[in-house]
Amino acid sequence: MRRLLARPDPRDPTWLLLDPRQARHAVRVLRLQPGDRFLAFDGAGSQWEAELVEVAPARARVVRALPAASLPYRLTLYQGVPKGDRMDLVVRMGTELGVASFVPVRTRRTVATGDRSERWRRVVAEAAKQCGRPTVPEVERVVDFPQAVERFRAHQLRLVLWESGGRPLADLVRESSACDLALFVGPEGGFDAAEVARLEEVGTLCSLGPLVLRTETAAVAAAAVVLCLRGFTSRTDH
Ligand code: SAH
Repeated sequence: MRRLLARPDPRDPTWLLLDPRQARHAVRVLRLQPGDRFLAFDGAGSQWEAELVEVAPARARVVRALPAASLPYRLTLYQGVPKGDRMDLVVRMGTELGVASFVPVRTRRTVATGDRSERWRRVVAEAAKQCGRPTVPEVERVVDFPQAVERFRAHQLRLVLWESGGRPLADLVRESSACDLALFVGPEGGFDAAEVARLEEVGTLCSLGPLVLRTETAAVAAAAVVLCLRGFTSRTDH
C-alpha cells in the first residue's frame, strides 16, 4: 500500500489532511484517485489506513488507526560531516537502520563547508516513507564539536567510534540496558588527538574491528550493530 505523510484535521480527527507536495505526486504520478485506500503517517509515530476523498485540497478519511512499529531504544548519531554527498548515504541508511536523530558535527578535520541539513531532511523523509517507518528521524543543524560534546554527554550510553582501539562496540551495546544511546563517528580524516581525548572523558571508545572503515561505512555498520542487538521488542532486559 502507498504511504503518504498526513496529519489529522484539527477540527475533526476522523479526517486527514495530506501534505500538498506528496498529494500532488500521489495523484499525478501514482494515479491515486478518490476512493483509493492508502497508508497515512504523520512522521511522529501515528499511522492510519485511509481513504482518499478529495484531491484538491487533498483530504482523506480515517478507515482505522494502525499500531505504530517502533524500536525499543532511541539512537542519536553524531556524525563528523564528510565531504561531498556522503552524508546523504549516512542519513538515508541510518533512517532504514533505526537512527532517531542525526547531529551533523563540524570537527577539526571536517572539510565540508556550509550546512546542508535542509537537503538531509528531505533525504530522511523519503527514506522513512520508503522503509515503512512511522517516525521521521530528526536532522539537526550542523553544530561545532564543543557544542556536540555537550549534547552527547547527556545521553545514557555514549559510544565513540575509534579506529585505533577501544572495546568491541557489540560488547558495549550488549552489556548495557540503556534505551537512550548515542554514537559519535569522526569525519573521513578521523578525530584529532585532542578530540579523542575530550570524547574519552565523556564517552567510551569503541571499535568495529581491525579494519579502517570509511566514515559512512562506520556509521551505518554501527547503527546496524545496535539494531541487531537491541531492535527486537521480545527482549526482556530493558
Ligand atoms: N584516521 C583515519 C581514518 C578515519 S575513519 C585517517 O586518518 O584517515 C573515519 C571514522 O570512522 C573514524 O573517526 C571512526 O569514527 C570511524 N571508524 C572507521 N573505522 C573504524 C573502526 N574499525 N572502528 C571504529 N570506528 C571506526
